[in-house]
Amino acid sequence: MNQTIEEIWNKRPLIISGPCSAETEEQVVETAVRLAKTGKVDALRAGIWKPRTKPGMFEGIGVKGLPWLANAKKISGLPIAVEVATAKHVEMALQFDVDILWIGARTTVNPFSVQEVADALRGVDVPVLIKNPINPDLELWTGAVERIAKVGIKDLGLIHRGFSSYGNTEYRNAPMWHLAIEMKRRNPELLMINDPSHICGRRDILLEVAQKAIDLDYDGLMIESHIDPDKAWSDAKQQVTPEELAEMLDHIVWRREDINSEEFHQALERLRQQINHLDDELMQILGQRMKVSEKIAEYKKENNITILQTNRWNEILNRACQRAEKLGLSKEFITKYFDAVHMESISHQTKIFNS
Ligand code: PEP
Ligand code: MN
Repeated sequence: MNQTIEEIWNKRPLIISGPCSAETEEQVVETAVRLAKTGKVDALRAGIWKPRTKPGMFEGIGVKGLPWLANAKKISGLPIAVEVATAKHVEMALQFDVDILWIGARTTVNPFSVQEVADALRGVDVPVLIKNPINPDLELWTGAVERIAKVGIKDLGLIHRGFSSYGNTEYRNAPMWHLAIEMKRRNPELLMINDPSHICGRRDILLEVAQKAIDLDYDGLMIESHIDPDKAWSDAKQQVTPEELAEMLDHIVWRREDINSEEFHQALERLRQQINHLDDELMQILGQRMKVSEKIAEYKKENNITILQTNRWNEILNRACQRAEKLGLSKEFITKYFDAVHMESISHQTKIFNS
């Protein structure tokens, strides 16, 4: 390793790649060497202990994989990152000089486990990345961050790997971008990494998810790679070869949050002012809309009519969807928007009914 871990941690974009699982020493070393050769990867990841949904699936090679990683680091020069879920994992990983630890999605959900890992990290100086919990719950994610921060870990980051949702979607784990954005808003000092591999669960849409993350100003990416992806012992469908990874990284348009040009800033400022005005107007109009709906409620109350009239609601929605299309607004957005307006309106009307 030519650079210090601190320098690597501060690199933007920070790219971490490597196999879902360490399988054999040859596989780990060859992956590391081929990743290092691309010149685009900053750290090697590999799962040593794998939390799997069902017993009988490959549950990780265990401690015997750690010397393989140490060797891969020596040969390739890449620092190594490993998932830890118990105090023993932390102890073993540190014994083998693992450079970056991460807490997996199935661990973040469990405060007992996170606390156990945190206690094992007390007084240790090692960067830790915390994956979002499997379920879309920002408080759990925040709780894990607080537990790890409390024991004195200062290099802390987040990995957004998507959230479980019921039923099949195009993703293995729904990204729910708004949750990651909110987490970043609450913790601007934390590194925010995107893990397209576990969001997508398949390789054909990795690039578009990675690009979206970069467009949203993420600090880096963690993407799984394997020397023979189809034969990987875990997560075969989502892995790519180191060379495919490099090609994908070449296709990403790297954006900057800021540039220095005065003209650019002024133009941006004017557009932002416009957005603020429009948002103010929208809110005023929404306020007026609620007043009208309160008048309707008074009228309904006097005449003993129910608050919700399904036919009228369908009529409003159909009308809105038709108009939305002409205005270039998606049906999905308009439906969500009107649902929210409707709920607010019902709550205003309920107040009138109960007064
Ligand atoms: C992994 O990174 O291979 C892994 C198990 O991920 P997650 O915790 O996001 O499921
Ligand atoms: Mn995996």
